Amino acid sequence: MRAAFPCNSMETQILGRSRGWLAYAKQYIEAGEVVAFHTETVYGLGANAFNDEAVLKIFALKGRPADNPLIVHVHKDFDISRLIDGEPPYAAALRAAFLPGALTMVYPSTGKVSKYVSCGLNTLAIRVPSSPTAQAFLREVDLPIAAPSANLSKHVSPVTARHVYDDFNGKIPLILDGGACSGGIESTVLDCTGEVPQILREGLVTREMIASVAGDCKIYVRREGEQPKSPGMAYKHYSPRCKTALCNAAEEAIALYDRERERGGKPCILAESELIPALEEREVLDLGGTGEEMARRLYALLRKAEKTATLLIGVVPKERGGVMAGVMNRFYRAFGGEHEA
Ligand code: AMP
Ligand code: MG
Repeated sequence: MRAAFPCNSMETQILGRSRGWLAYAKQYIEAGEVVAFHTETVYGLGANAFNDEAVLKIFALKGRPADNPLIVHVHKDFDISRLIDGEPPYAAALRAAFLPGALTMVYPSTGKVSKYVSCGLNTLAIRVPSSPTAQAFLREVDLPIAAPSANLSKHVSPVTARHVYDDFNGKIPLILDGGACSGGIESTVLDCTGEVPQILREGLVTREMIASVAGDCKIYVRREGEQPKSPGMAYKHYSPRCKTALCNAAEEAIALYDRERERGGKPCILAESELIPALEEREVLDLGGTGEEMARRLYALLRKAEKTATLLIGVVPKERGGVMAGVMNRFYRAFGGEHEA
């Protein structure tokens, strides 16, 4: 039985796996609406990538700058030759190794989807998420779904359905709830238009992992004055809605914390697990002890802190290689520091 098509009120529904939930989502997508959905990285805000108006709705809902392109999401059996004209051998090898997964691949665009997806770039970013919820949704609609992270522009990316609801209640009809995101930071964005793959945004699929399959992998560094290859990386991002301060050591964080307390504020310290004992009885948020743990916890903790703290003090975690490159990038940006990758 198909779920009844919704009435006119825009009460945002959060639906977990249940009878008819995908048919319901499909009806919205086919009607040109925007539906949020779980992925293994962060929740996405999706629309039919062939539909200009639906794609433009995403920008309006998020307050997203018109030059920040969207990633197109497809299910794992979707024939991507419908969207691109071939690919270099290393790209096919990377797809075989890492997809479905947290790797977005950028190809020369062929103009098949709405021009608003790529925002004037001559490339198209494609991702095949591994989340069973995302796969089921994408398979049901069998369309390329343009989807950025499901947060208001500049706010922290959402890693639970509730986070999406907090930003978009009353503005979108449906959130497909797949639980908390296991990855926790956005996908790696990889330029596959050159002879050697080049990372435009670091994420859970690391440079080492890509190089082990492709033989080599570069990291894009924007030269001064140059138009960024991945425009999203030029914007302020991931910011909690409270004051923030960044420290390099626990003692520095303690001094800031105690000063804020004396002023009558409610400070909170975000630090990796091994520093927690040194922070004693203070209000702390435990970022974790491994890169993967930190990726999984970071956004949820930033969103938690902004609800109660007057000042969130972040202690820079130590470098651990692997996914830490992606974690550090988000960490610095959340705390307002300059750390463009
Ligand atoms: P979000 O989904 O909110 O994490 O944002 C998507 C990210 O992918 C942004 O940083 C975009 O700049 C980047 N992106 C999307 N499409 C392209 C593309 N065609 N070329 C380069 N970067 C892209
Ligand atoms: Mg985003």
